[in-house]
Amino acid sequence: MKCLLCGQTMKTVLTFSSLLLLKNDASCLCLDCDSTFERIGEEYCPNCMKIGLSTKCQDCQFWCKEGVEVSHRAIFTYNQAMKDFFSRYKFDGDFLLRKVFSSFLSEELKKYKEYQFVVIPLSPDRYANRGFNQVEGLVEAAGFSYLDLLEKREERTSSSKNRSERLATELPFFIKSGVTIPKKILLIDDIYTTGATINRVKKLLEEAGAKDVKTFSLVR
Ligand SMILES: [Zn+2]
Ligand SMILES: [Zn+2]
Repeated sequence: MKCLLCGQTMKTVLTFSSLLLLKNDASCLCLDCDSTFERIGEEYCPNCMKIGLSTKCQDCQFWCKEGVEVSHRAIFTYNQAMKDFFSRYKFDGDFLLRKVFSSFLSEELKKYKEYQFVVIPLSPDRYANRGFNQVEGLVEAAGFSYLDLLEKREERTSSSKNRSERLATELPFFIKSGVTIPKKILLIDDIYTTGATINRVKKLLEEAGAKDVKTFSLVR
């Protein structure tokens, strides 16, 4: 078996449980590549997992004032290795790389048994250009399905706007007509930075009737 990222051949160690359960829990990464990614440590904002502090961060206080109680979990930090990964996966469009983190993701996502998964969608143009939704790829590779509740409309570029202008603009996401909103939702994205997108979509789903919306990203 070859490492999905660097291509070097890996020694595969068959564990008793993988033989017994015929379960494919082998990592798709060699130890060298694996060691370049950094898992979020012990100290982080209890609401959003921002690292380096142990109380509610300023962003989460901001969201609280906006009526959103942030409840986010993530696995990895956005270090250089992760930036390189997303540049290959998203921008070079290497769909095979969706499997790189599947064992980590499956470990985390199986904790949300009572929740229906919903993925942050791409706009139609973005989807057409990339050919796939990178978040759907990650979730499917980890062995989970998701509900198709949301759509994203095209929006004009927002680079000229400042933060408050961006937050004030209309949300480009909407709920598809005729869908049923489940009570418990895990809303999934690839990367959480300010949380602007995912927390505004969380609020949208809560306003549409969801009782408990938690959020999740591979990277924070
Ligand atoms: Zn490797
Ligand atoms: Zn926070």
